[in-house]
Amino acid sequence: MAAPQVQNLINGHWKAAGSDAWFESRNPAHPAEVIGTFPQSGPEDIEEAVSSANRAFEGWRAMGLVKRAEYLGRVARLMEEDTEALARIVAREAGKQINEARADVVEAIHTAQYAFAFGHLGQYGRVIGDEVPTKRCYEFLEPRGVVVAITPWNFPVALPFWLTGLSLVLGNCVILKPSEYTPMCGAKIAGYFEQAGIPAGVFQVLQGTGEGAGAPLVSHPKTHVVLFTGSYEVGLKIKLEVARHAHKVCTIETGGKNAVLIMEDANLDMAVTASLLSAFKTAGQRCVTAGRLLVDSRVADRFKDRFVSTARRVTVGDPMDENVFYGAMINQQGVEKGRRFNATAKKEGFEILLDRNSEPPPTPDGYWLKPFVYTGPWRKDSVCLTEEAFSPHVAIVPVGGVEEAVAVYNDTKYGLSGSIITEDYRKAKYAEEHMQCGIFYWNLPCIGAGVRMPFGGVKQSGNLIPSAAGLIPVLTHPKAVTHNLDTKIVMAQGLKAEIT
Ligand code: NAD
Repeated sequence: MAAPQVQNLINGHWKAAGSDAWFESRNPAHPAEVIGTFPQSGPEDIEEAVSSANRAFEGWRAMGLVKRAEYLGRVARLMEEDTEALARIVAREAGKQINEARADVVEAIHTAQYAFAFGHLGQYGRVIGDEVPTKRCYEFLEPRGVVVAITPWNFPVALPFWLTGLSLVLGNCVILKPSEYTPMCGAKIAGYFEQAGIPAGVFQVLQGTGEGAGAPLVSHPKTHVVLFTGSYEVGLKIKLEVARHAHKVCTIETGGKNAVLIMEDANLDMAVTASLLSAFKTAGQRCVTAGRLLVDSRVADRFKDRFVSTARRVTVGDPMDENVFYGAMINQQGVEKGRRFNATAKKEGFEILLDRNSEPPPTPDGYWLKPFVYTGPWRKDSVCLTEEAFSPHVAIVPVGGVEEAVAVYNDTKYGLSGSIITEDYRKAKYAEEHMQCGIFYWNLPCIGAGVRMPFGGVKQSGNLIPSAAGLIPVLTHPKAVTHNLDTKIVMAQGLKAEIT
């Protein structure tokens, strides 16, 4: 069957790019399989989408919170009915194992439901007391305008919803630029919004590369908010560009060099399970992947043996296989980056505990990396211990106890997620209070976020403005309103109002 040609959704219509240029998306487990061809958007498409969004804004904003929320409710229902089909597209296009692909879709449904419920709460501000009781003060949250959402490939359905669900319900129009590696997922999302009857221009999807379609949306004078999730290098470019526009704000959610801390008193079964999930789910291609397991040296040998013997039998294979632990790498560059990190660990003199990359690959032409585990003392000058590998590449680093583990955790330029495995609440409390990260877990893996909590990192993992439930201040401007219910003017702070 020929691969479908799928267009952009601009101003309520499916349209090819003005240039009529197209690009392909392929299955990373079977790269000969083309998933579809998609428009390579350029300046005229961007102009059209931005002006449609600005035109749609007043009507959308005037519709009110509760009515807007209904669209997210409808989209959630459509996705629920389509969960299995959508999960199979995620697995085919992103290489995520089918169970992980389903979780991606379920996270998107929950996010749409959350946005729907948020709208039905009907709250978009607060009533605030004043020292002059005859004044009534409140703030209401005004939408900012046109939100540009730029998303990575690794959560191709969930992340667009994290960034767009509340944006829409709070009254903004959205232009989504999905990753060029998962355009079919982006197009499916556009389809659900279209089926839900969202007004033209309120939700649009523009396909294309970062430079060709993403950057011009960021710099366009008539876009107002940029929500970016992806690498720090691109996030920094976005921050610098946004700083040039007085009216624009952005959030950047970027990478990490996360860790699981394993204490002397840890339940070792739990420690091994948490570490395997953290290091290898999605083939290590999560922003919250643990590249480091910081283990109390008193249990390090016991932990190493159990972790390595389990990692030896972790199954890697076709994403459609229900029984494999993880699937494919996204592309050849991802494989090469992982290989470079594995080679660096050897070059930097670490002891290699496991390298399964000489095993036969699950498919001859797919993009695969098998688990790689190494060990050695903490070294801040080591590239592989401090930079994001974005592959199934993990270090076991012995440490002297909780304080040293936390100091090592903090000794990189990142600060996204971390977890501690311990039976001692004092150690957990110490880590919770001292780890420089945005997301902290106790007796859990360092992966596994949900929409109800803020999600974001510190240092080079973000710009300190979280996504998910933490987005509201970015999506809205709180207007401070004061009414005088008296017949005269009474000023606060004892300021005289008499005209003398
Ligand atoms: P990437 O930065 O290469 O691309 C992300 C998106 O940005 C894509 O849509 C891409 O087309 C676009 N883009 C690229 N250059 C651009 C530019 N100059 N202007 C505007 N847009 C541009 O990231 P990726 O390879 O898709 O994803 C992997 C990275 O994402 C990893 O670093 C990972 O840690 C990070 N990530 C972070 C989070 C988080 O929430 N913190 C979540 C998932 C992934």
